[in-house]
Amino acid sequence: MSVIRVPEADAQGWSCDACGEPLVPAPVDLEYLDSRFTVELPRCAKCGFVLIPEALAMGKMLEVEKLLEDK
Ligand SMILES: [Zn+2]
Repeated sequence: MSVIRVPEADAQGWSCDACGEPLVPAPVDLEYLDSRFTVELPRCAKCGFVLIPEALAMGKMLEVEKLLEDK
């Protein structure tokens, strides 16, 4: 499955609260409804913390779903 990129998940300017490391984009497996997606999200390379942008959590997953249906 290809990695989905969303503009809301831009890692630039984010850093990890716990260790202060800059977050870097990494493919993250998400489960939504009965589907599994691989979405590129900002992740801390040190502790593995993944930032899920609020916009994504609040409903952008619907757009992700549409992207998948288009394939
Ligand atoms: Zn960290």
